[in-house]
Amino acid sequence: MNYSWRIDTDQASAGPRSFGKFKLETDPVARLIGNTPLIEIRRIFHSEHIQILAKLESFNPGGSIKDRPAANMIRAGEESGELTAEKTILDSTSGNTGIAYAMIAASKGYRVRLALPANASMERKRILQGYGVDLELTDPLEGSDGAYVRVQEIYEKHPEKYFYPNQYANEANWKAHYQTTGPEIYRQTNGAVTHFVTGLGTTGTMMGTSRYLKEQNPAIQCISFVPDSPFHGLEGLKHLPSTIVPDIYDERVPDEGLEISTEEAHRMVVRLAREEGLFVGISAGAAMVAALQVARNIDSGRIVAVFCDGGDKYLSEEFWSLY
Ligand code: PMP
Repeated sequence: MNYSWRIDTDQASAGPRSFGKFKLETDPVARLIGNTPLIEIRRIFHSEHIQILAKLESFNPGGSIKDRPAANMIRAGEESGELTAEKTILDSTSGNTGIAYAMIAASKGYRVRLALPANASMERKRILQGYGVDLELTDPLEGSDGAYVRVQEIYEKHPEKYFYPNQYANEANWKAHYQTTGPEIYRQTNGAVTHFVTGLGTTGTMMGTSRYLKEQNPAIQCISFVPDSPFHGLEGLKHLPSTIVPDIYDERVPDEGLEISTEEAHRMVVRLAREEGLFVGISAGAAMVAALQVARNIDSGRIVAVFCDGGDKYLSEEFWSLY
């Protein structure tokens, strides 16, 4: 049997220990985050003058785009001295940030406590249990706001016990995308991206990536989307008109905003699996629907849509057999 494995030996940040000629890294899991593939959609959409490219964030080690901000918020907490070994990382999440915190925290020896709406997918809850997270489920009718309010209560009682990154208000959230997602997209398209499409949850992806892209070329159009109703199935996204608006959100950043229905997103998830070989999550299906709407209104361009996670966390959903 051929067991192949690899340790980077050329990183200046490699840890102090060594193993033979290999240096062992201090931060091996966090180092796997980012540099995700960008691939062309070829069958669902085909045009001579317009290209739709998908940024496949399921390639992150925790399986979603949220590895990027979680790692950056933990790093910022360590650097500021707020996060110390005896503190527990506490936050509210729709699941993916929690999985990312849990993964990074386990690799660094921190404990994690999370509040999550009870209707988050079963797979997310199981993964979090797998990582050994202290999980509190909040009222599904209150959505992500219920989990947010609960975490604030827990934190206010014992602030000394916790490191509370508060992903909705933490600058290190959007800066992770300013420092990584944006530059990767610009580089992977050789600067030829004309439109950027992503959904709004904490809004970190939109804020950070758009700010970077617009600094490179102010003509790049940044298009956000949200679910079309308060009760939706686009996990990870927020219906901003009816929910608490994240502190990091600046409505001047997106050039345009779209609304996408859960049913359209579900249908598209199934099509992406069967026609493109891309097994992606529901907000990725919604991103593809949004990208197609953008494509309909332009004559030429290169549209980049973020596919935030993979389909495996949604296997228990019924829509797979409906279409
Ligand atoms: N899609 C999924 C699957 C997510 O988990 C999230 C994060 N909540 C988003 C989209 C939205 O990303 P952001 O928080 O950066 O707005």
